[in-house]
Amino acid sequence: LTFADLGLDPRLVQAVAQQSFEKPTLVQRKAIPLALQGQDVLCKAKTGSGKTAAYVLPVLSSILKRKITDPTPFTAGLILVPTRELADQVFKAIEHFSAFCAKDMHAAKLTENVSDAVQRSLLANVPDIVVSTPARAWHSVNSAALSLAKLQYLILDEADLVLSYGYDEDMENISRSLPKGVQTIMMSATLSAELDALKGIFCRNPTVLDL
Ligand code: AMP
Repeated sequence: LTFADLGLDPRLVQAVAQQSFEKPTLVQRKAIPLALQGQDVLCKAKTGSGKTAAYVLPVLSSILKRKITDPTPFTAGLILVPTRELADQVFKAIEHFSAFCAKDMHAAKLTENVSDAVQRSLLANVPDIVVSTPARAWHSVNSAALSLAKLQYLILDEADLVLSYGYDEDMENISRSLPKGVQTIMMSATLSAELDALKGIFCRNPTVLDL
């Protein structure tokens, strides 16, 4: 099985090839087709397993597909991560995967070290996809800089850490700002009992990948 077999937009397959990823990892083979079908996914995946591409690629692909018929800009994807470092990594991955569709894919990164003014100007450009910590995301939603009114994809990366960093209140506030029918993808190193709480808030009936 190759990346081209997974049903991803050809521009993404091209970008993957440029990064010399030869074939999809296990988590990518399992999660990408489910995510492209619109299913909620809760996936046990460690750093190094290829988990970032496993959610970034299907979400970018779905956004690109929609933009062919509906180019109206809106924020369709929100990726929540526990730390600034992970936000940096995920944002870089999005940039690399967008190498052949850069003009159709605008991403923004919101982290604690960036000033409010800069974040506001980033969001004023209406990014297709936002990478953020829960605290910054809620701050931006609450100050009306970021609209989640048309959100379609919510991703929690390192979901177990998101919980342990004390973002509970931000997560609840964000969950109340979401429209109905958002597709959720959760990546977590562990499948703990606490995760069931998050699952309950965000997921419909996720397919659990206990790899
Ligand atoms: P992650 O688990 O997302 O933190 O990814 C770990 C590392 O594996 C990153 O440096 C990726 O660029 C790399 N990677 C992800 N998927 C693949 C793949 N299919 N083939 C080769 N390298 C990959």
